[in-house]
Amino acid sequence: MPATTPKAAPKNIESKLAKLGLRTDMDLVLHLPMRYEDETRIVSIREACTRGGQTWQVEGVVTKNEISYKPRRQLQVTIADDGGELLLRFMNFYGSQVKQLAEGTRVRARGEVRHGFFGAEIVHPNYKVINQGAPLPTSLTPVYPSGEGLSQTVLRRAIADAMKRVDWQDTVPQGVRAKMRLADFEPSIKLLHYPPVDVDEHELTERTHPAWVRMKFDELLAQQLSLKRAQRARREKGAPMLRAVGALSEAFLNQLPFKLTGAQQRVVREIRADLREGYPMQRLLQGDVGSGKTVVAALAAAQAIDSGYQAALMAPTEILAEQHFRKIAAWMEPLGVKVAWLTGSLKKKEKTAAVELVESGQAQLVIGTHALIQDTVQFAKLGLVIVDEQHRFGVGQRLQLRNKGSDNLVPHQLMMSATPIPRTLAMTYYADLEVSVIDELPPGRSPIVTRAVDQNRRDEVIERVHAAALEGRQVYWVCPLIEESEALQLQTATETYETLAAALPDLKVGLVHGRLKPAEKQVVMDAFAAGEVHVLVATTVIEVGVDVPNASLMVIEHAERFGLSQLHQLRGRVGRGSAASVCLLLYQSPLGHVAKQRLMTMRETTDGFEIARRDLEIRGPGEFLGARQSGQAMLRFANLETDQWIVEQARDVAQHLLQEEHAENVATVDAHLARWLGGREEFLKV
Ligand code: ADP
Ligand code: MG
Repeated sequence: MPATTPKAAPKNIESKLAKLGLRTDMDLVLHLPMRYEDETRIVSIREACTRGGQTWQVEGVVTKNEISYKPRRQLQVTIADDGGELLLRFMNFYGSQVKQLAEGTRVRARGEVRHGFFGAEIVHPNYKVINQGAPLPTSLTPVYPSGEGLSQTVLRRAIADAMKRVDWQDTVPQGVRAKMRLADFEPSIKLLHYPPVDVDEHELTERTHPAWVRMKFDELLAQQLSLKRAQRARREKGAPMLRAVGALSEAFLNQLPFKLTGAQQRVVREIRADLREGYPMQRLLQGDVGSGKTVVAALAAAQAIDSGYQAALMAPTEILAEQHFRKIAAWMEPLGVKVAWLTGSLKKKEKTAAVELVESGQAQLVIGTHALIQDTVQFAKLGLVIVDEQHRFGVGQRLQLRNKGSDNLVPHQLMMSATPIPRTLAMTYYADLEVSVIDELPPGRSPIVTRAVDQNRRDEVIERVHAAALEGRQVYWVCPLIEESEALQLQTATETYETLAAALPDLKVGLVHGRLKPAEKQVVMDAFAAGEVHVLVATTVIEVGVDVPNASLMVIEHAERFGLSQLHQLRGRVGRGSAASVCLLLYQSPLGHVAKQRLMTMRETTDGFEIARRDLEIRGPGEFLGARQSGQAMLRFANLETDQWIVEQARDVAQHLLQEEHAENVATVDAHLARWLGGREEFLKV
């Protein structure tokens, strides 16, 4: 890279910096190097040539400068010091460089020394034209993440200039720094940009150096402060007080064919208390597959209805929404509740009718997909919003539902998820969320043994299916997930169905897939539930909500294509009755590393929390959250897996700073948030 940069118009540079998100001086200062180059040492040309093979910095005077055309046009510059000669070769070069490297010029060049056709050489060295005796840098040279057309030289200069202008105020109070043994802000930043030669490089690359710890702490503190402030802001908004746990709730409980588990009773109490408050609840109901979240949701809805308000339940897919609708309508309609059904696939007339029910307030409960949040839907008196599988919705969609309240009141929000959110994530991204956990399965569930079986033993597996069916058990056979093509997935399902039907002539085999009309699907599902169908071949439509206790064997084909939480959800369809259940994961070898880890996890545990923890290890945290709220994407420095202790420190400090309402603390918090979040704070508010 040439030492002198062509003087680009500052505007041009500015816009390139802006593309990297570097708008203010502080943005530049917080743009930390990804690695360093050691330009602090010079070796003799002889030493560099003898040892070769790696990056060296040498200094010499140009003795020859020529443009050669063999084998192709290139600039060849020879430099020499007291003991040796070295060729610098440039395939791409500017005319200005030819002049700049005229004979007699002293240069420092850095790069990998190789022995080639022309002797010892560096191809495309980094170099600098210097005067004799020019001092060497005393710190490592930063290499920054950069963007197109933005050279390190320009970036380095922009950052160095910004460092001269920024306000170095330490936004973490002295007392806190002392207690937490945190390094100071300014020296940390300076060390990270310009580390002294004797720095522990391992600590820098691993980001465990105290200066890095300080950066991570600051970043996490900003996040915690912002989340906690958002929580306060929410508390200042009004919500309808859903005070009545009355006739409907009671009748509903009385007609349930089972008793709530202890865990269900506990979370119902938590939710009931929240719904009575005059500010909007924002609660996540977490519970493993089959833990019984639906009843809890229905009870929350009953409280809203008892209090004279409407409740809405939104699910991410039509199938899931429909299952909720069937189940909940069957519970509620006999008790006199009008339940409306609203999805995108309704015919225009049906839709208009449903919207009318919602607007007039005749429908006390509305169940559907995101069609619920379309602008055309106005609720008469919405008190509670329930969102199932909340991580599949974007922040924006949830916000829209929240805005469907009336009289300036914000409805309460209950989110449900079977994907347990690991503790660190819950702390970082859901600081503004209360969490209720159903940590107990309804009684009568039996353990599931899981085995991974090579695809080439499919015949044995079919034998096993046969044996199970003869013993009176029922079987799910899950077809491979084919993400690229729904048509192909359908075809595979049909083929599997035909093969199995042919291989098991004495059994009744059924088929369900996403393309069937709801009524057709129901016929098959009903036959399976009634025990008339022995083997149910299914695409992933059975992922959610299907409940047939007599089914105790599940085969999942091409299990290596499924994600962990999906496998866990599928497996949750068996183990619901008294018989010992088995889940066979058929895989195609050879297995990739990640797939192997997933299958191993499935074999080793049926605990949803443990599975989520391993999933986090395997995939990283982003996927637990909707794409837009992917938290890790917002963290530049901290790593949620390895930096949990810093997360906890930051949380404690945030609590402390917000608790004591001195003007001084408020100013500190403002300064810290401005520095670390700038305009991005909005992101964290939902
Ligand atoms: P999930 O939490 O996965 O949504 P569901 O709400 O679908 O689970 O419940 C799974 C099954 O367990 C359903 O058939 C439901 O009726 C049943 N169930 C829920 N709670 C209980 C309970 N306390 N006792 C017995 N069965 C229950
Ligand atoms: Mg459910």
